Amino acid sequence: MLFAFYAMLEDILLQVNKPGRYIGQEWNVAKKDFSLTNIKFALCFPDLYELGMSNLGLRVLYGILNNIEDVCCERFFSPDIDMEEILRQNQSEIVSLESKKRLREFDLIGFSLSYELGYTNVLNILELGGMPLKSSLRDHSYPLVIGGGPCVLNPEPLHEFFDIFVIGEAEEAIAQIIDLYREFKDRFKAAQINKQDLLVELVKIEGVYAPSLYEVKYNSSGKIAEFKAKVKGAPEQIKKRFVQDLDQVYVPLDWLVPYIAIVHDRITLEIMRGCPNTCRFCQARSQYFPLRIRGIKNILDLTTNIYRRTGYEEISLAGLSVSDYPDILGLLGQLVDLFKEKAVGISLPSLKPKTLAGDFSALIARIKKTGFTFAPEAATERLRKILNKNFDLPDFFKVIEQAYRCGWQHIKLYFMIGIPYEEKKDLDAILDFALSASELKRKINKRPAQVNISINTLIPKPHTPFQWLAMQDLETIKLKQNYLKKRLKNRNLKLSLHNPYMSFIESILSRGDRRLSPVILKAFGKGARFDAWENRFNFDRWLSAFAESGINPDFYLTDRSLKEYLPWDFLDTGINKEALRIEYEKVIAEG
Ligand code: SF4
Repeated sequence: MLFAFYAMLEDILLQVNKPGRYIGQEWNVAKKDFSLTNIKFALCFPDLYELGMSNLGLRVLYGILNNIEDVCCERFFSPDIDMEEILRQNQSEIVSLESKKRLREFDLIGFSLSYELGYTNVLNILELGGMPLKSSLRDHSYPLVIGGGPCVLNPEPLHEFFDIFVIGEAEEAIAQIIDLYREFKDRFKAAQINKQDLLVELVKIEGVYAPSLYEVKYNSSGKIAEFKAKVKGAPEQIKKRFVQDLDQVYVPLDWLVPYIAIVHDRITLEIMRGCPNTCRFCQARSQYFPLRIRGIKNILDLTTNIYRRTGYEEISLAGLSVSDYPDILGLLGQLVDLFKEKAVGISLPSLKPKTLAGDFSALIARIKKTGFTFAPEAATERLRKILNKNFDLPDFFKVIEQAYRCGWQHIKLYFMIGIPYEEKKDLDAILDFALSASELKRKINKRPAQVNISINTLIPKPHTPFQWLAMQDLETIKLKQNYLKKRLKNRNLKLSLHNPYMSFIESILSRGDRRLSPVILKAFGKGARFDAWENRFNFDRWLSAFAESGINPDFYLTDRSLKEYLPWDFLDTGINKEALRIEYEKVIAEG
């Protein structure tokens, strides 16, 4: 039987693009015996293999779960369109990368939810796994479906599909969920306890939210009138989980090395979690609050160990704002010294000039030139003040100049549009800012630099001081984008504008409530897949899903009253609503 399955798989693999996505068996893959382990965990990433394998959280959970003796954790990624077609034509189910097991053979299914535009891919994996999509239709004979990751800061739009969500960092919570499931598994599988009883036990674990244990009532204007637990034992407020000490947290040393190129094909090591800054638009700050720092010795030990087990030639230091690491220069210097003989490059994500002025130039020449990225976000001081993104402009340009001196030819600048109180002059300033950055290079070799300007639309996200603000409407954003395109004359500046229709849908899904589950289901039914990919995103499909569900999408984009109960108010991130309100009122006062 298994032989027949593999023969069929081989036949399928010959017909699809990039078969390496589906074969598994990578270097350092976990080798657990599926049939001999007690608890089977399907770890799913709702996008292609190349993206999922670049996700640090997925690698961490894979390691933690497979380190538990009686747990076997296997991976599932979204099949690409060609693979999906073949699976559906053959009425075959999606199988795990490791043992080629079907989704329904697992006890627990965990999804990493990194971006809202991946929601229809979640439904696709469930459907291709033969699972009823709604939690209410899955009894004890089906695995429990768990969601985690950045998007669960507002899980409500997905409430119909998931049994539980883990709010915040899952490293410790997942082991507690496994322990509890182990205790109840036999009785649950034998239908001696029902799913609701099991969920009531699970929500005793801090950070676990089971949406079916709560009900929401709306008033005549469509706002939330009441959110309350339906059963005894379900907490009114769900506290976000976070680990206390980053030096004690699990880091996978047996880093999986794929056979095909993935998006981040390198070792990624988190050097800090959380951010000391307070940019008012930033949801990641609430997601990863509070700030925790990994010690230099630990970082050096971990990178050495992972390097030995993989042979990767690049180490990327990860964190929300790595240039705020307390001794970033000391750390970089030691890493460069440690790896210089081995020709291993050290790379950094987006940089902040404040901390990198001064001594940085000597070091900068020695780190890998993977592109120099800065995120000023706004080009005028007035708007940066509104965003609370403060930095010193002369320092900023000094660092860019240093980068040119050290050999960088191109830089990338991230900006946002749709910022409250934005005016035409603020848009003009973006191009002027980029031009100054480009012209600065003439001082070094008489030639301007190529500057890539990436422009996103501001989405006022939950758990930020901007959560009460309206999202700027689609027509205004399109006008602003066209204005920038028309004004761009200099061929050394390249403009990349984020698709405004995608931002529109992302904004609704991130700010929405329970009434969006049917919309997501309808969009999926109409063929929505890979919505985070511009070439696959179809705006009309979403609009008709809203229309057929009787939902006005604009409802979710308007401003919110300070008195309103917001769909995510039952989640406690550690930054209280009052602190957000004070910052919001400063924005209103400053504008
Ligand atoms: S935008 Fe960056 S620097 Fe600002 S709070 Fe968020 S992570 Fe920190």
